[in-house]
Amino acid sequence: MAEPKTSRPFYRPQAGGELHCGGVSLESLARRFGTPLYVYSANQIAERLAMFQQALAGRDHLVCYAVKANSALAILKLLAKRGAGFDIVSGGELERVMAATPEAAGRVVFSGVGKTAAEIDAGLKAAILAFNVESEAELALLAARARKLKIRARFALRVNPDVFADTHPYISTGLREHKFGVDIRRARAIYRSAAKDRWLEAYAVSVHIGSQIRSADPFGAAIARVSKLAMQLREDGITLKAIDAGGGLGIDYHDGAFDAAGKVEEYAEALNRALGEFDGRLLIEPGRFLVAQAGALVTRVLYVKRNGKKTFVITDAAMNDLIRPALYQAHHEIVPVRPRAGRACVVDVVGPVCESGDFFARDRKLVPVEPGDLVALLDAGAYGMVQSSNYNSRPRAAEVLVEGAKARLIRRRETMADLLATERV
Ligand SMILES: *Cc1c(COP(=O)(O)O)cnc(C)c1O
Repeated sequence: MAEPKTSRPFYRPQAGGELHCGGVSLESLARRFGTPLYVYSANQIAERLAMFQQALAGRDHLVCYAVKANSALAILKLLAKRGAGFDIVSGGELERVMAATPEAAGRVVFSGVGKTAAEIDAGLKAAILAFNVESEAELALLAARARKLKIRARFALRVNPDVFADTHPYISTGLREHKFGVDIRRARAIYRSAAKDRWLEAYAVSVHIGSQIRSADPFGAAIARVSKLAMQLREDGITLKAIDAGGGLGIDYHDGAFDAAGKVEEYAEALNRALGEFDGRLLIEPGRFLVAQAGALVTRVLYVKRNGKKTFVITDAAMNDLIRPALYQAHHEIVPVRPRAGRACVVDVVGPVCESGDFFARDRKLVPVEPGDLVALLDAGAYGMVQSSNYNSRPRAAEVLVEGAKARLIRRRETMADLLATERV
C-alpha cells in the first residue's frame, strides 16, 4: 500500500475505498482524535522542500519557509532538519522557530511592515540572518536598536518592484499602491545612506509580490528589476551577498493532475534567468507551495437539510476552522472519506457558525453524504489552522502529522478551559 507520488497525498488504496494519508486511514484518525481534524503528510512536505532544493542546486541558495502558512512546531522542525530556513513576520513566529528548532535561528529572515522595537531586539539577540526592512523609518529603528545592543544588523531592503501579479487582491503585494516595501526607485539612495552606519550591514535586497501566483513570469520580471538594482549598488561599492525573491508560488486547488516538480523547475528557471550576472546567494520564501497540498481538514457531517430548492450539508467544521472560502472565495475540493453509491447532487457545504459567510462550498456537485459521514476538505495545509479562531466560542481543531505508516498528534484539541483561562468575570 505505497503512497503514490501525486500532487495530493490523500488517496484510496482501492478504487472506491476509504481515503488514506500515507499508510493511515482518515476514518481511524477521526475515531482516535475526533473532528474537525487537520491531517498533514510529512512525506509530502519533505518532498516539496526537496523540489526547490534540487531545482536550485546549481547555485548557493536557502529555502526560507514562510512560517505564517502553517506554524505548527512539528512542521517547522521537520523542515529545519532538512536544511530549510524560515521567513517570519512577527516576534511570535520567531519564538515558534526558537521553540521548535533554535539551531535554525541563523537561517531566519524577518519580514513585515510593522516590526516593534521589542521584536527587532529579539531578532538581533537571536542572531537571525537578516531583517527584511520595509521602510526608512524601520531601518532607522533597526540601526538604533543595533547600536544600543551592540549587535550588527544584517538587513535587506524589501523593495516594491511595481509588478502586477494576477491573484486575489487581498494577497497581491507588489504594486506601488500596496503597503509593502519601499519604492524600488528610492532603494539605491537608502542603501547608500545606510552604508555610513557601522551598525548596519547591507546583506540583501528582497521582494515579495504576492501569493497564489500561478505563472513564473511575474517572478522573473520582479527579479530582473531587483538584480539590476544589485548591479547598480555594486557600482556604488555596495556588494550585496544575497537576493531574496520572496514566496508566492501558487498551487492548483481544483481537481486534476498538478505537476508540482514541473512548476518548481519553471519557477527556478525564471529566477535564474532574471538573476543574470548576480552570483550571490538566492533566498526564496515559499509557504503555501510547501504545505498546502500536504494537508486536509477532516470533518463529520452533522445534518443534511433542504430549504426551498437548496440542499445544505452541515459539517462540524466551520469558518473559524478554515476561513479561506469566506475570506478569499477560495475553492477546496471536498471528498467523502468513504464514498457511497448514488448520484451526485448540487449542495452547499456549510458550518454551524451563525454567519451566512460560513460556507466551504456553494452549489457544489457532491456525491451523496449522510449524517455521520466524514468528508475531507483538501489542500487545507496552508493558511488553514493558522487563520483559525475561537469565533462562536468554538475550541480550535486538533492537528495530526502522518509519517509513513504512523500518525501522531502534534497539537491537541483545544478545550473550553483553554478558552476561558485568560478571562476574569
Ligand atoms: C506570505 C509571505 C510569503 C509566503 O507566501 P506564499 O504564497 O505562502 O508562498 C513569503 N514572504 C513574505 C514576505 C510573505 O509575506
